[in-house]
Amino acid sequence: MKRTNTTPITSFFPKKHHNDDAQSHRSSSPLDEPTEIEEPQHGDTEIGTSSHLSKEPILDRLTDFDVISLPYDPGLRRKLTDFHINDRDIIRREYVRRGPCQPRDHKFPKTKRNFVVAWFDKFKPWLEYSKEKDAAFCFVCYLFKSESVSGGETFVNGGFRTWSKTDAFNKHVGNHMSAHNNAMKNFDVFNKQKSSIMRCFENYTKEAKNDYRIRLEAAIDALRFITLQRLTSRGRDESDESLNQGNFLELRKTFAKRDSNVARALFDKKVPGNCTLIAHGIQKQIVSVFAKETTKKVLEELHGGFFGILADESADIADKEQMALCLRYVDYKTGEVKERFLGIVHVGDTTSLTLKAAIEKLLGANSLTLSSVRGQGYDGASNMRGSINGLKTLIMKESPSAYYVHCFAHQL
Ligand SMILES: [Zn+2]
Repeated sequence: MKRTNTTPITSFFPKKHHNDDAQSHRSSSPLDEPTEIEEPQHGDTEIGTSSHLSKEPILDRLTDFDVISLPYDPGLRRKLTDFHINDRDIIRREYVRRGPCQPRDHKFPKTKRNFVVAWFDKFKPWLEYSKEKDAAFCFVCYLFKSESVSGGETFVNGGFRTWSKTDAFNKHVGNHMSAHNNAMKNFDVFNKQKSSIMRCFENYTKEAKNDYRIRLEAAIDALRFITLQRLTSRGRDESDESLNQGNFLELRKTFAKRDSNVARALFDKKVPGNCTLIAHGIQKQIVSVFAKETTKKVLEELHGGFFGILADESADIADKEQMALCLRYVDYKTGEVKERFLGIVHVGDTTSLTLKAAIEKLLGANSLTLSSVRGQGYDGASNMRGSINGLKTLIMKESPSAYYVHCFAHQL
């Protein structure tokens, strides 16, 4: 979530409890606590009063941090309507996650009468206590009471603390049409919505995950075959009408013929168009994963030992210079001498300095260094073998034991 400016956290707290508001609500609410409930006296007037807190509505969207920083104590909360309309469900979810504020271990201030912990059990789903205000609040009415339904305001705005009037709790609950019970219904709907959405999501993802895995495995198997056989993956005409869509797409069809589950996962109409895993970009990504895995295997065989490098450069069809690099090493497990391709890189030019930098970079990308090089083999080009500025000399300056052996094929 993004906000244009920052709202101080203190602004989430109510500034002042308007007695006149409470009065008018009380008198106009037939379903609310009876009017004889005493308006909080002396100390009660401080309920909800905090001169440093602003009552300005919060028009900016809340950040995630703002949401987790919402005050737990009901006496410190702002009205839900003070928040941006799109944030209200987020706030509801956060408070439902926390549950009603019921500080059972609190030492309730002893006066003639005081709050009784047992009330938490009797009115468990909704009764809250504010340590800050020494007052009782209704959790459900705060979050879910409709603006258009009057009644129950005492337990939302300012809080209730006339402890002698214990029947006020039952009166707040009221009959099945009361504001509180309406809020309870909204609360139930909210919880059901949440659980049904979660269930749908879980079911959907389980099936979708399974199908996705089948599509991914089909793509990997097809590309593994194609790269091993050095075939092209794309077809000349990959359209649905084509009689030959190319190796990759045709292999998928072959897989589908052998297994109905694969056929469904690959070719069902419900397969999301953005998740077919046949795009050329995806194919390239999978092949580059093959390359990474292969290199990993090579490095395991090398096991941090010494190695020789074999390099050659050439221009490709677009006249861009490229350099291929192979490693020659002893497999630390079998003792066999192996030559393995490490990578191919574009180089700006073919001067020995550029090539050395490219080799160093490619080795570095695989956690190898020039200091472990114990042999070099190139063709006879002067930039490579030149005794003054050749690549071989540059590398020998860093690793004196990197002896040069002229490419045997060239010698022959
Ligand atoms: Zn209520």
